Amino acid sequence: MKALYLFKRDLRWEDNRALAYASQRHKEILPLFIFDKEIIEDLQVDEKRVSYLIRALEELSKKIDLYCLYDTTEKALRRVFEVYKPSHLYTTKSYSWKGRKRNEIIKSLCKEYGVEYVEIFENFLAHPEEIPTRKVYTPFYKEWIKRLDLESFKLHDFSIPKLNLPKLDDIRKHIKAISFPYFDPKDCKERLKNFNFENYENTRNYPYMDGSSKLSPCIRFGILSLREIYKKVEGRSEQFIKELGWREFWYHIAINFPEAKELEFQEKRRGIIWENKGEYIRAFEEGTTGYPIIDAGIRQLREEKWLHNRMRMILASFLAKVLLVDWRIGEDFFKKHLLDYDEVVNVGNWQWSASVGADPKPFRLFNPILQAQRYDPECQYIRKYLPELSKLPCHMLLDPLNNKLPYHKPVVNYYERISLAKKLYGLHSHE
Ligand SMILES: Cc1cc2nc3c(=O)[nH]c(=O)nc-3n(C[C@H](O)[C@H](O)[C@H](O)COP(=O)(O)OP(=O)(O)OC[C@H]3O[C@@H](n4cnc5c(N)ncnc54)[C@H](O)[C@@H]3O)c2cc1C
Repeated sequence: MKALYLFKRDLRWEDNRALAYASQRHKEILPLFIFDKEIIEDLQVDEKRVSYLIRALEELSKKIDLYCLYDTTEKALRRVFEVYKPSHLYTTKSYSWKGRKRNEIIKSLCKEYGVEYVEIFENFLAHPEEIPTRKVYTPFYKEWIKRLDLESFKLHDFSIPKLNLPKLDDIRKHIKAISFPYFDPKDCKERLKNFNFENYENTRNYPYMDGSSKLSPCIRFGILSLREIYKKVEGRSEQFIKELGWREFWYHIAINFPEAKELEFQEKRRGIIWENKGEYIRAFEEGTTGYPIIDAGIRQLREEKWLHNRMRMILASFLAKVLLVDWRIGEDFFKKHLLDYDEVVNVGNWQWSASVGADPKPFRLFNPILQAQRYDPECQYIRKYLPELSKLPCHMLLDPLNNKLPYHKPVVNYYERISLAKKLYGLHSHE
């Protein structure tokens, strides 16, 4: 009995439950990754982001003789089924909107070719469907933490067939990769080993510090197993475990309220008429809003393809509540740039930041002036990403409304816009 193993968001050899499960049942396995043309085109994956994926596959190929096809999932699988004729196909269970659709395609192809389709739970700490439905994070967390599934499966030896199918080297002619200095999958293990989790709670909020784990790309592509991360963090940082819980909370919402992919989770916020002014959208996306903390964030995102959580919240809140731009436009902008882009998590967080999503609180405000004063009080972050302003005194950089900077004029006045936003959201001015 020959098995096909389809890697997706689990690009690792160690502690991969789905691969281990297949290895316990088959002596021969064909390991496969499909660069799905449609996914790559939809994500508008740029060279930096695709380079990270290629590097992840290079690392995986050092451990396992991986086959790689560049095509639609359907065409690639038909080709492999015809050449290899497997009895089984193993892959991880998907909970994302697109992943579930893709698994349905795979499943029906398996049926057509008489291949047994096996999905294994992986890439989450708890089975999302086992958690009673909750709309707010803290009650969700209380249920989630009781149901963690931390069991690892042992990987058995298996052989890999030699076939006339493409490998990673053959794919490179379709996909251009470049060297990308900020993130490399081979650093995930070291980062996990060396990051100071004990101090995470004190450092995690400050974008100028190296104070958050930066493990999000490692998690997004499954380069590390969540069990491995959890075991490393357990007893060291409850706050960090809560952050892992947030990731699964957004999946919980996506599964139980699938309409929240397109629509605001909060029904009362579905009719907002966004201004969507082209000039404001451009200023935001180009980092020329005249608010140094905002523009520094956009520069980091465009250059490094990653952004600190505090900066993501400040930017998202600014776009929706100050520029009065539909959160979907921001979601799409992050989609184009984030290395760790995860549609379910991004949509959830954008809705949360725009105060239209799950886990509602009274209208949250992220005043960019107060946020900068609090989280970048010495302007280290602003100066790093806006070196052209680095000689100016910090108090000027923190408050562009009361100081004329030799740089873009503030695109709007925060305080004026916030009262407009409250009207748009149907709130009274004291709320
Ligand atoms: C508007 C907005 C969009 C976002 N889009 C994404 C996205 O597309 N992909 C993504 O992985 N994260 C997203 N996040 C969540 C969060 O900002 C990142 O996970 C985090 O900044 C990654 O850095 P880190 O690994 O150093 O995080 P750490 O602070 O070290 O946290 C550890 C891990 O916990 C998870 N996590 C932390 N915060 C959140 C959160 N708010 N929601 C869900 N998971 C969380 C991540 O897996 C993260 O790697 C978004 C947040 C906002 C406000």
